[in-house]
Amino acid sequence: MGTLLKFNSSKKKILVASTFLATLLLNACVTTNNDLNAPNDSNKIVSQTATFTPRAENQYLSQEQAFKRSARVSNVSYKLNYKLTGDEHFSASSTINFTLSDNAFPLTVDLNKAQITSVVINGFSMPAEQLEINYNQWFITLPVAQLLKGNNTVTVDFTRKHNTNGEGLHRFKDPVDDKVYLYSHFEPAAAQQMFALFDQPDLKATFEMTVSAPQEWTVISATKEDKIIKQGNVNVWHFPQSKTLSPYNFSLHAGPYKMWQDNSGKYPLRLFTRQSVANQITPKHWFTYTNQGFEFFDDYFGIDYPFKKYDQVLVPDFLYGAMENAAAVTFAEGSFLTNGEMSQSRRERLASVIMHEMAHQWFGNLATMKWWNGLWLNESFAAFMATLATSEATEFTNAWRTFYAGGKQSAYRADQRVTTHPIEVPVPSTANAFDNIDAITYSKGASVLNQLRHLLGEKTFQQGIHNYLSNNAYKNAVLDDFIDSLAKASGKDLTLWQQKWLYQAGVNTIEASYQCDAGKINSFQLLQTADASQPTLREQKVQIALFKAKSSGFDLIKKVSVIYQGKSTKVNELIGLACPDLVYPNYQDWAFVKVNLDARSFKTTQNYLAQIEDPLLRSMLWQSLWDSVRDGKLPLNEYLQVALANAPFEQDYTTLGQILGQISSANIYLNKGLGSQHNYVKGIAQQLEEITWQSTLYNSDNKNIQRRWFNSYLKFAHTDSALDNLYKLLNGQHSLEGLTISQDVRWDIIAQLSRFQHAKSAELIVQELTVDSSDTGVKSALYAQVIAPNVKVKNDWLAKIQQKNSDIGFSKLRTAMSALYPSEQNNLREQSATQLMSSLTEIDKANGPVFMRSYNNLIPATCSETSVSRLATAVSELTQLSAGTKRSLLIKQQEDQRCLLIKNKMTLSN
Ligand SMILES: [Zn+2]
Repeated sequence: MGTLLKFNSSKKKILVASTFLATLLLNACVTTNNDLNAPNDSNKIVSQTATFTPRAENQYLSQEQAFKRSARVSNVSYKLNYKLTGDEHFSASSTINFTLSDNAFPLTVDLNKAQITSVVINGFSMPAEQLEINYNQWFITLPVAQLLKGNNTVTVDFTRKHNTNGEGLHRFKDPVDDKVYLYSHFEPAAAQQMFALFDQPDLKATFEMTVSAPQEWTVISATKEDKIIKQGNVNVWHFPQSKTLSPYNFSLHAGPYKMWQDNSGKYPLRLFTRQSVANQITPKHWFTYTNQGFEFFDDYFGIDYPFKKYDQVLVPDFLYGAMENAAAVTFAEGSFLTNGEMSQSRRERLASVIMHEMAHQWFGNLATMKWWNGLWLNESFAAFMATLATSEATEFTNAWRTFYAGGKQSAYRADQRVTTHPIEVPVPSTANAFDNIDAITYSKGASVLNQLRHLLGEKTFQQGIHNYLSNNAYKNAVLDDFIDSLAKASGKDLTLWQQKWLYQAGVNTIEASYQCDAGKINSFQLLQTADASQPTLREQKVQIALFKAKSSGFDLIKKVSVIYQGKSTKVNELIGLACPDLVYPNYQDWAFVKVNLDARSFKTTQNYLAQIEDPLLRSMLWQSLWDSVRDGKLPLNEYLQVALANAPFEQDYTTLGQILGQISSANIYLNKGLGSQHNYVKGIAQQLEEITWQSTLYNSDNKNIQRRWFNSYLKFAHTDSALDNLYKLLNGQHSLEGLTISQDVRWDIIAQLSRFQHAKSAELIVQELTVDSSDTGVKSALYAQVIAPNVKVKNDWLAKIQQKNSDIGFSKLRTAMSALYPSEQNNLREQSATQLMSSLTEIDKANGPVFMRSYNNLIPATCSETSVSRLATAVSELTQLSAGTKRSLLIKQQEDQRCLLIKNKMTLSN
């Protein structure tokens, strides 16, 4: 192979040339022609060499290259060996066994930014000079000469720095006790930051692993360890071979984690947290929901949980909510740790996220997408299943209402934006894997699956899912496999359904159109419309419900289920019934569709909202009012009049959360549109402060409702007297019946005092840090500091955020970004607007999509003509932006126009 090094031009050229020569060399052996310089007469080799396209030299993998690789490689297994010390670097050895269908071309193995000490291919050790050429910091190119047709073994030894950005093998040093914790996160393609591999979902493999770690550490992976051997002052853990997994589903977590166990259910469960936050979780909640989930899923899927044991690990600095690593799921600490008792809404969220990750163990980990264009189905299905399981297997029978008020609304909003996209879209490369992972893929997808369940019938749907999972167990599958399973189970052709729902974007609107004569309905039809930009009309099954007012509340006169399609669908069944006061055409929320209330129903809603007894219907009617504001049909001030009068009577905590969320958005529109000093805005702010405080006091006998109101008060308190009230709650001069002021609440109070410039706030931040110096404490202090309306502090932090290669951890920068500009500081945001816009292209170029997802929230949209035109200019002039940032910019532009529309629609007397 020495001859290969004679070439002295650019690396790339050498690589291509070496490939060609190596091909000749190998062929030469077969044909016993030893003269390397002799022209080779094999047309096959010439044509193969001609079609060989080397992989782009960057960190991403294109779908084309991935499929070329998986067409040649099969039967992959990994043997991994780690030496973990807790230091900033780790050392490892990664042995890959695989079958290669041909050795005509080189083959690449992914390994990101490692210091490689050796590469051995089928017993041949790659010389250092060649390694320098064949490793570009993203992947190693294995030359043809050393590859075999058939079985191959490649071993890569390396050291690498741990990541601190939440990917690969992340390292976190606890500021409280200096203990070091590691966890892995691989999706979509970050396994290559931990070992050498074929990093793509359709090259499933088995994993066997040995880990040397300090004695006080616990090591967690896809299988349970079968041996721990003490060697000097370390323990060596052995993990037996796993089931066949996509690499992104494998994991390794290690550190002095605190552990709880539960063996009361069908599978052994363990739960882990850092030592310093161990008192902030209630393991009982975790184990209860998890056991309930396993019972539900084993039964629903008709397939037993495939991975034998189930570990759940809470980890710091996590980029997402949770990750479904096979049998070793990770959860973001932030969402699930709590000082004091966990509120009902947080427990419900916990149950739902546990169910989501558990659903993935079958749908995603057992049967896996072939490529990242299938990620939406993975997420949609898990989101759908999580809601179903939470509502049917846990105490949270309201889960579908929570989904309606939360995820589904974000899907409707996203689907009405200029940036909407079909549920399924092509993903050309791993760089784009998360481009479209948003409310469309999670929540619209989940809603559409739920609609399909109603259309096909519960049992048929379940049978289709079972067939899909059992046919594709331990394999990869594509959308057509899923649709075929459901089509076969139901005997229906779903081609058109698939076309209209999955490949075309946009949400339709339905409205009941009816006439009454002599108090009776004499015609009734359901009208369907589509936005001009997304003209597809669809078929769905809905329930139409008719209500009549009684002395207090409403009677349901009739509900009928109807499959509608096209522009107009007659519903003759309703003719002759008493003329209703309220018609709701998507009763019980089967469909993914916007509802336009008819004029009479809209009036009824405005006047009698609090009297609607059915909580889901009430929630949907609240939504109709709020949608009318956002669409510029109902003046914001009229909405607020209804909302402030009715909200205090709401006793359903899910609906109350939804209403308070709408009110909070209304307040943002006011602050941005009219300014916090406008008389009307000041009046509303004052009312919000009073109503939220009075309702906190009034609901002392209902903890969950009280918590909701108090959390809102924590955001609306702004007058001197309210800030003084907060201050006294903090130092114990005031107390509240039913409410404990936990460490989390203490920080919330301090942030609010700082936000409205309470004289003691700076002092309080410093003082509180001496009590709570935890990771959360440090971030909360930072949040409180940055949210103050202090230009210097803001500019300092903006500079730190924009600095290239900042040594401040990303999780801190992210906290600072979230605190920079609350809506009442709209003028401060405006002051930095030009700078933010002019530097956007440069920042976008210097940072990856994870950073930009947070950063793009800073793009200024200040609800004025100036701001709208500034965004329009940016859209047309900043042509070099990444896809994600371009999309954020378009969303900002559209939402800023909406803010202006809402502002101009208001009917204020002064
Ligand atoms: Zn998921």
